[in-house]
Amino acid sequence: MKFADLTGNKQVVDHLRRMVDEDRLPHAIVIEGPEGAGKLMLARALAQYIHCENRTPGGDSCGVCASCLQHSHHSHVDVHFSFPMLKRGNKKTDETESEDWIDEWREFLDENPYADMEVWLSKLGNINGQPVIYKGEADALRRALAFTARASRYKIAVIWLPERLNDSAANKLLKLIEEPFADTRIIMVSNNPKEILPTIYSRLQRIAVRRLSDADTVSVLTAARPGLSQTDALAVAHVAEGNVNLAMKLTGADGGENLQRFISLMRMAYRRDIAALRRWSIDMHGIGREAQIDFLTYCSRMFRENFIANLGNPGINYMTVDESAFSRNFSRFITPANVITLTAEADRAARDIAANSSARIVFFDLAIKIVLLIKQ
Ligand SMILES: [Zn+2]
Repeated sequence: MKFADLTGNKQVVDHLRRMVDEDRLPHAIVIEGPEGAGKLMLARALAQYIHCENRTPGGDSCGVCASCLQHSHHSHVDVHFSFPMLKRGNKKTDETESEDWIDEWREFLDENPYADMEVWLSKLGNINGQPVIYKGEADALRRALAFTARASRYKIAVIWLPERLNDSAANKLLKLIEEPFADTRIIMVSNNPKEILPTIYSRLQRIAVRRLSDADTVSVLTAARPGLSQTDALAVAHVAEGNVNLAMKLTGADGGENLQRFISLMRMAYRRDIAALRRWSIDMHGIGREAQIDFLTYCSRMFRENFIANLGNPGINYMTVDESAFSRNFSRFITPANVITLTAEADRAARDIAANSSARIVFFDLAIKIVLLIKQ
Protein backbone atom coordinates (compact mmCIF):
# COMPACT_ATOMS: atom_id res chain seq x y z
CA MET A 1 0.00 0.00 0.00
CA LYS A 2 1.48 3.31 -1.10
CA PHE A 3 0.26 6.79 -0.23
CA ALA A 4 -0.57 7.11 -3.92
CA ASP A 5 -3.13 4.28 -3.51
CA LEU A 6 -5.16 6.38 -1.08
CA THR A 7 -8.02 8.66 -2.00
CA GLY A 8 -8.70 11.86 -0.09
CA ASN A 9 -7.19 13.13 3.17
CA LYS A 10 -4.15 14.59 1.40
CA GLN A 11 -3.30 16.94 4.27
CA VAL A 12 -3.25 14.08 6.74
CA VAL A 13 -0.96 12.11 4.45
CA ASP A 14 1.38 15.11 4.10
CA HIS A 15 1.46 15.59 7.85
CA LEU A 16 2.37 11.96 8.51
CA ARG A 17 4.92 11.89 5.72
CA ARG A 18 6.67 14.96 7.09
CA MET A 19 6.84 13.44 10.56
CA VAL A 20 8.51 10.31 9.14
CA ASP A 21 10.88 12.37 6.94
CA GLU A 22 11.95 14.44 9.94
CA ASP A 23 12.11 11.36 12.17
CA ARG A 24 9.62 12.73 14.68
CA LEU A 25 6.73 10.32 14.29
CA PRO A 26 5.45 9.81 17.86
CA HIS A 27 5.86 6.42 19.46
CA ALA A 28 2.11 5.76 19.53
CA ILE A 29 -0.55 7.31 17.33
CA VAL A 30 -4.20 6.67 16.62
CA ILE A 31 -5.69 7.26 13.20
CA GLU A 32 -9.32 8.00 13.98
CA GLY A 33 -12.39 8.94 12.00
CA PRO A 34 -15.53 7.60 10.36
CA GLU A 35 -15.84 4.10 8.98
CA GLY A 36 -15.03 3.44 5.34
CA ALA A 37 -12.65 6.40 4.94
CA GLY A 38 -9.55 4.25 4.39
CA LYS A 39 -7.91 4.59 7.82
CA LEU A 40 -6.40 1.10 7.82
CA MET A 41 -5.06 1.75 4.31
CA LEU A 42 -3.42 4.89 5.63
CA ALA A 43 -1.87 2.96 8.52
CA ARG A 44 -0.52 0.37 6.09
CA ALA A 45 0.84 3.00 3.71
CA LEU A 46 2.51 4.76 6.64
CA ALA A 47 4.15 1.53 7.89
CA GLN A 48 5.37 0.75 4.37
CA TYR A 49 6.76 4.27 3.99
CA ILE A 50 8.65 3.97 7.29
CA HIS A 51 10.21 0.69 6.15
CA CYS A 52 10.81 1.44 2.46
CA GLU A 53 14.50 1.23 1.54
CA ASN A 54 14.16 3.57 -1.38
CA ARG A 55 11.56 6.26 -0.78
CA THR A 56 10.83 8.24 -3.91
CA PRO A 57 11.52 11.97 -4.04
CA GLY A 58 7.81 12.76 -4.28
CA GLY A 59 7.40 11.33 -0.82
CA ASP A 60 6.13 7.81 -1.23
CA SER A 61 7.35 4.27 -0.75
CA CYS A 62 8.90 2.76 -3.89
CA GLY A 63 6.62 -0.29 -4.06
CA VAL A 64 9.41 -2.52 -5.41
CA CYS A 65 12.14 -2.88 -2.77
CA ALA A 66 12.30 -6.06 -0.68
CA SER A 67 10.63 -4.26 2.18
CA CYS A 68 7.74 -2.95 0.07
CA LEU A 69 7.20 -6.40 -1.43
CA GLN A 70 6.90 -7.92 2.04
CA HIS A 71 4.44 -5.21 2.93
CA SER A 72 2.37 -5.96 -0.14
CA HIS A 73 2.02 -9.56 1.12
CA HIS A 74 1.26 -8.36 4.67
CA SER A 75 4.24 -10.38 5.86
CA HIS A 76 6.94 -7.84 6.71
CA VAL A 77 9.11 -9.31 9.43
CA ASP A 78 9.01 -6.08 11.45
CA VAL A 79 5.24 -5.53 11.31
CA HIS A 80 2.80 -7.03 13.77
CA PHE A 81 -0.96 -6.77 13.14
CA SER A 82 -3.41 -6.91 16.03
CA PHE A 83 -7.13 -7.04 15.33
CA PRO A 84 -10.38 -8.18 16.97
CA MET A 85 -10.95 -11.92 16.74
CA LEU A 86 -12.96 -14.83 18.01
CA LYS A 87 -11.78 -17.88 19.91
CA ARG A 88 -10.60 -20.58 17.56
CA GLY A 89 -10.67 -24.36 18.00
CA ASN A 90 -9.66 -25.75 21.37
CA LYS A 91 -7.61 -22.76 22.36
CA LYS A 92 -8.68 -20.86 25.48
CA THR A 93 -10.40 -17.58 24.74
CA ASP A 94 -7.77 -15.65 26.67
CA GLU A 95 -4.96 -17.21 24.65
CA THR A 96 -6.44 -16.33 21.27
CA GLU A 97 -3.90 -14.37 19.24
CA SER A 98 -3.59 -12.89 15.77
CA GLU A 99 -1.42 -15.78 14.58
CA ASP A 100 -4.52 -18.00 14.84
CA TRP A 101 -6.26 -15.89 12.19
CA ILE A 102 -3.36 -14.57 10.17
CA ASP A 103 -4.31 -16.29 6.89
CA GLU A 104 -7.86 -14.92 7.08
CA TRP A 105 -6.49 -11.51 8.01
CA ARG A 106 -4.21 -11.39 4.95
CA GLU A 107 -7.10 -12.44 2.71
CA PHE A 108 -9.23 -9.74 4.30
CA LEU A 109 -6.64 -7.03 3.63
CA ASP A 110 -6.40 -8.14 0.00
CA GLU A 111 -10.14 -8.28 -0.54
CA ASN A 112 -11.19 -5.20 1.33
CA PRO A 113 -8.57 -2.54 1.98
CA TYR A 114 -11.29 -0.28 3.43
CA ALA A 115 -11.73 -2.81 6.26
CA ASP A 116 -15.41 -3.63 6.59
CA MET A 117 -16.37 -5.31 9.90
CA GLU A 118 -19.16 -7.25 8.19
CA VAL A 119 -16.63 -8.79 5.79
CA TRP A 120 -14.22 -9.49 8.66
CA LEU A 121 -16.98 -11.28 10.60
CA SER A 122 -17.60 -13.55 7.64
CA LYS A 123 -13.86 -14.32 7.55
CA LEU A 124 -14.06 -15.17 11.25
CA GLY A 125 -16.86 -17.59 10.36
CA ASN A 126 -19.55 -16.03 12.55
CA ILE A 127 -21.56 -13.15 11.15
CA ASN A 128 -23.10 -12.55 14.59
CA GLY A 129 -19.78 -12.63 16.43
CA GLN A 130 -18.53 -9.85 18.71
CA PRO A 131 -14.79 -10.04 18.17
CA VAL A 132 -12.36 -8.89 20.82
CA ILE A 133 -8.61 -8.31 21.16
CA TYR A 134 -7.73 -10.70 23.97
CA LYS A 135 -4.96 -10.87 26.54
CA GLY A 136 -3.18 -13.54 24.48
CA GLU A 137 -2.87 -11.09 21.61
CA ALA A 138 -1.50 -8.36 23.91
CA ASP A 139 1.17 -10.88 25.00
CA ALA A 140 1.93 -11.72 21.37
CA LEU A 141 2.25 -8.03 20.58
CA ARG A 142 4.64 -7.53 23.49
CA ARG A 143 6.81 -10.44 22.31
CA ALA A 144 6.86 -9.05 18.77
CA LEU A 145 7.91 -5.57 19.89
CA ALA A 146 10.50 -6.87 22.40
CA PHE A 147 12.71 -8.20 19.61
CA THR A 148 15.08 -5.85 17.87
CA ALA A 149 13.87 -5.04 14.39
CA ARG A 150 15.35 -7.51 11.95
CA ALA A 151 15.09 -5.94 8.52
CA SER A 152 14.84 -2.24 9.32
CA ARG A 153 15.21 0.24 12.12
CA TYR A 154 11.63 0.20 13.41
CA LYS A 155 9.34 -2.50 14.68
CA ILE A 156 5.78 -1.46 13.89
CA ALA A 157 2.53 -2.62 15.45
CA VAL A 158 -0.68 -1.89 13.56
CA ILE A 159 -3.67 -2.28 15.87
CA TRP A 160 -7.04 -2.30 14.13
CA LEU A 161 -9.89 -1.23 16.44
CA PRO A 162 -8.23 -0.75 19.86
CA GLU A 163 -11.75 0.00 21.16
CA ARG A 164 -12.21 -3.76 21.09
CA LEU A 165 -9.34 -4.57 23.46
CA ASN A 166 -10.71 -6.29 26.55
CA ASP A 167 -9.63 -4.97 29.95
CA SER A 168 -6.67 -7.23 30.58
CA ALA A 169 -5.37 -6.76 27.02
CA ALA A 170 -5.80 -2.98 27.32
CA ASN A 171 -3.80 -2.89 30.55
CA LYS A 172 -0.98 -4.83 28.94
CA LEU A 173 -0.98 -2.48 25.98
CA LEU A 174 -0.92 0.50 28.32
CA LYS A 175 2.38 -0.78 29.75
CA LEU A 176 3.82 -1.03 26.24
CA ILE A 177 2.88 2.59 25.64
CA GLU A 178 4.13 3.86 29.00
CA GLU A 179 7.43 1.96 28.85
CA PRO A 180 8.10 1.52 25.13
CA PHE A 181 10.79 -0.72 23.70
CA ALA A 182 13.38 1.18 21.68
CA ASP A 183 12.61 1.84 18.02
CA THR A 184 9.01 0.72 18.10
CA ARG A 185 6.04 2.52 16.60
CA ILE A 186 2.43 1.72 17.43
CA ILE A 187 -0.17 2.76 14.87
CA MET A 188 -3.77 2.31 15.98
CA VAL A 189 -6.82 2.63 13.76
CA SER A 190 -10.10 3.45 15.47
CA ASN A 191 -13.71 3.98 14.42
CA ASN A 192 -14.83 4.79 17.98
CA PRO A 193 -11.95 6.39 19.90
CA LYS A 194 -14.29 7.29 22.77
CA GLU A 195 -14.41 3.59 23.61
CA ILE A 196 -10.63 3.25 23.94
CA LEU A 197 -9.41 2.96 27.53
CA PRO A 198 -8.92 6.65 28.50
CA THR A 199 -5.48 6.05 30.04
CA ILE A 200 -4.33 4.66 26.66
CA TYR A 201 -6.11 7.25 24.57
CA SER A 202 -4.60 10.17 26.49
CA ARG A 203 -1.11 8.93 25.58
CA LEU A 204 -1.74 8.70 21.84
CA GLN A 205 -1.12 11.37 19.27
CA ARG A 206 -4.41 11.72 17.42
CA ILE A 207 -4.51 11.80 13.64
CA ALA A 208 -8.03 12.71 12.53
CA VAL A 209 -9.16 11.43 9.16
CA ARG A 210 -12.23 12.89 7.50
CA ARG A 211 -14.96 11.13 5.56
CA LEU A 212 -14.33 11.04 1.83
CA SER A 213 -16.04 13.69 -0.26
CA ASP A 214 -18.76 12.55 -2.67
CA ALA A 215 -16.37 13.20 -5.57
CA ASP A 216 -13.68 11.02 -3.97
CA THR A 217 -16.21 8.28 -3.25
CA VAL A 218 -17.30 8.39 -6.90
CA SER A 219 -13.71 8.01 -8.06
CA VAL A 220 -13.16 4.97 -5.79
CA LEU A 221 -16.48 3.48 -6.88
CA THR A 222 -16.08 3.90 -10.61
CA ALA A 223 -12.55 2.45 -10.45
CA ALA A 224 -13.85 -0.62 -8.62
CA ARG A 225 -17.06 -0.99 -10.65
CA PRO A 226 -16.31 -0.20 -14.29
CA GLY A 227 -19.90 -0.77 -15.43
CA LEU A 228 -21.39 1.72 -13.00
CA SER A 229 -22.93 4.84 -14.53
CA GLN A 230 -21.85 8.26 -13.30
CA THR A 231 -25.45 9.02 -12.21
CA ASP A 232 -25.70 5.91 -10.05
CA ALA A 233 -22.20 6.41 -8.64
CA LEU A 234 -23.12 9.93 -7.60
CA ALA A 235 -26.43 8.87 -6.07
CA VAL A 236 -24.75 6.08 -4.13
CA ALA A 237 -21.88 8.34 -3.01
CA HIS A 238 -24.38 10.81 -1.62
CA VAL A 239 -26.23 8.10 0.27
CA ALA A 240 -23.04 6.51 1.62
CA GLU A 241 -21.86 9.81 3.14
CA GLY A 242 -18.20 9.04 2.52
CA ASN A 243 -18.35 5.42 3.72
CA VAL A 244 -16.72 3.48 0.89
CA ASN A 245 -17.74 0.14 2.39
CA LEU A 246 -21.37 1.15 2.29
CA ALA A 247 -21.01 2.53 -1.24
CA MET A 248 -19.43 -0.75 -2.39
CA LYS A 249 -22.23 -2.74 -0.80
CA LEU A 250 -24.89 -0.65 -2.50
CA THR A 251 -23.29 -1.26 -5.89
CA GLY A 252 -21.82 -4.77 -5.44
CA ALA A 253 -22.87 -8.00 -7.08
CA ASP A 254 -25.50 -8.33 -4.38
CA GLY A 255 -25.80 -4.57 -4.00
CA GLY A 256 -29.41 -4.73 -5.09
CA GLU A 257 -30.11 -7.22 -2.33
CA ASN A 258 -31.42 -4.65 0.14
CA LEU A 259 -33.69 -3.21 -2.55
CA GLN A 260 -35.04 -6.70 -3.38
CA ARG A 261 -35.66 -7.35 0.32
CA PHE A 262 -37.34 -3.98 0.67
CA ILE A 263 -39.59 -4.60 -2.34
CA SER A 264 -40.70 -8.01 -1.12
CA LEU A 265 -41.33 -6.67 2.39
CA MET A 266 -43.49 -3.86 1.01
CA ARG A 267 -45.45 -6.23 -1.21
CA MET A 268 -46.16 -8.67 1.62
CA ALA A 269 -47.18 -5.79 3.88
CA TYR A 270 -49.47 -4.37 1.21
CA ARG A 271 -51.14 -7.77 0.75
CA ARG A 272 -51.35 -8.10 4.56
CA ASP A 273 -49.83 -11.57 4.17
CA ILE A 274 -49.02 -12.25 7.81
CA ALA A 275 -47.90 -15.85 7.28
CA ALA A 276 -45.40 -14.75 4.63
CA LEU A 277 -44.17 -11.93 6.86
CA ARG A 278 -43.58 -14.41 9.67
CA ARG A 279 -41.50 -16.60 7.34
CA TRP A 280 -39.64 -13.51 6.14
CA SER A 281 -38.77 -12.55 9.73
CA ILE A 282 -37.28 -15.99 10.29
CA ASP A 283 -35.23 -15.63 7.09
CA MET A 284 -34.00 -12.21 8.18
CA HIS A 285 -32.96 -13.73 11.51
CA GLY A 286 -30.37 -15.77 9.65
CA ILE A 287 -28.57 -13.07 7.66
CA GLY A 288 -26.39 -11.82 10.53
CA ARG A 289 -26.44 -8.75 12.70
CA GLU A 290 -24.39 -6.37 10.56
CA ALA A 291 -26.49 -7.17 7.47
CA GLN A 292 -29.70 -6.76 9.50
CA ILE A 293 -28.69 -3.31 10.69
CA ASP A 294 -27.58 -2.48 7.19
CA PHE A 295 -31.00 -3.44 5.79
CA LEU A 296 -32.90 -1.47 8.44
CA THR A 297 -30.82 1.62 7.75
CA TYR A 298 -31.65 1.07 4.11
CA CYS A 299 -35.41 0.86 4.87
CA SER A 300 -35.23 4.12 6.76
CA ARG A 301 -33.58 5.82 3.81
CA MET A 302 -36.06 4.36 1.32
CA PHE A 303 -39.05 5.63 3.32
CA ARG A 304 -37.49 9.08 3.33
CA GLU A 305 -36.52 9.10 -0.33
CA ASN A 306 -39.94 7.85 -1.43
CA PHE A 307 -41.60 10.55 0.56
CA ILE A 308 -39.35 13.16 -1.03
CA ALA A 309 -40.12 11.65 -4.45
CA ASN A 310 -43.73 12.79 -3.97
CA LEU A 311 -42.60 16.39 -3.71
CA GLY A 312 -41.77 16.30 -7.41
CA ASN A 313 -38.31 17.83 -7.12
CA PRO A 314 -35.84 15.29 -8.57
CA GLY A 315 -32.89 17.53 -7.65
CA ILE A 316 -33.25 16.64 -3.96
CA ASN A 317 -33.88 12.92 -4.55
CA TYR A 318 -31.05 10.43 -4.28
CA MET A 319 -32.00 7.04 -5.63
CA THR A 320 -30.33 4.64 -8.00
CA VAL A 321 -31.99 3.83 -11.32
CA ASP A 322 -33.49 0.60 -9.90
CA GLU A 323 -34.74 2.34 -6.78
CA SER A 324 -36.40 5.06 -8.86
CA ALA A 325 -38.11 2.42 -10.99
CA PHE A 326 -39.69 0.84 -7.92
CA SER A 327 -40.48 4.25 -6.46
CA ARG A 328 -42.66 5.28 -9.40
CA ASN A 329 -45.53 3.08 -8.19
CA PHE A 330 -44.57 2.81 -4.57
CA SER A 331 -43.92 6.37 -3.43
CA ARG A 332 -47.62 7.29 -3.19
CA PHE A 333 -47.91 4.95 -0.18
CA ILE A 334 -45.43 7.05 1.79
CA THR A 335 -47.34 10.06 2.98
CA PRO A 336 -47.09 12.92 5.49
CA ALA A 337 -49.26 10.77 7.77
CA ASN A 338 -46.85 7.82 7.99
CA VAL A 339 -43.35 8.84 6.87
CA ILE A 340 -42.09 9.94 10.27
CA THR A 341 -43.39 6.86 12.08
CA LEU A 342 -42.08 4.49 9.40
CA THR A 343 -38.54 5.89 9.47
CA ALA A 344 -38.58 6.03 13.29
CA GLU A 345 -39.69 2.37 13.47
CA ALA A 346 -36.93 1.23 11.11
CA ASP A 347 -34.33 3.21 13.09
CA ARG A 348 -35.63 1.80 16.35
CA ALA A 349 -35.48 -1.75 14.99
CA ALA A 350 -31.82 -1.14 14.02
CA ARG A 351 -31.07 0.03 17.56
CA ASP A 352 -32.84 -3.02 19.03
CA ILE A 353 -30.80 -5.37 16.86
CA ALA A 354 -27.61 -3.56 17.86
CA ALA A 355 -28.65 -4.05 21.49
CA ASN A 356 -28.94 -7.81 20.95
CA SER A 357 -32.72 -8.19 20.77
CA SER A 358 -34.00 -11.25 18.94
CA ALA A 359 -33.92 -10.39 15.23
CA ARG A 360 -36.87 -12.65 14.48
CA ILE A 361 -39.08 -10.75 16.91
CA VAL A 362 -37.79 -7.31 15.92
CA PHE A 363 -38.39 -7.96 12.21
CA PHE A 364 -41.85 -9.43 12.71
CA ASP A 365 -42.82 -6.54 14.95
CA LEU A 366 -41.59 -4.06 12.34
CA ALA A 367 -43.42 -5.92 9.57
CA ILE A 368 -46.73 -5.70 11.44
CA LYS A 369 -46.25 -1.99 12.04
CA ILE A 370 -45.60 -1.48 8.35
CA VAL A 371 -48.84 -3.37 7.53
CA LEU A 372 -50.74 -0.98 9.77
CA LEU A 373 -49.00 2.17 8.54
CA ILE A 374 -48.63 1.63 4.84
CA LYS A 375 -52.29 2.21 3.90
CA GLN A 376 -52.89 5.32 5.95
ZN1 LIG B 1 10.25 0.37 -1.11
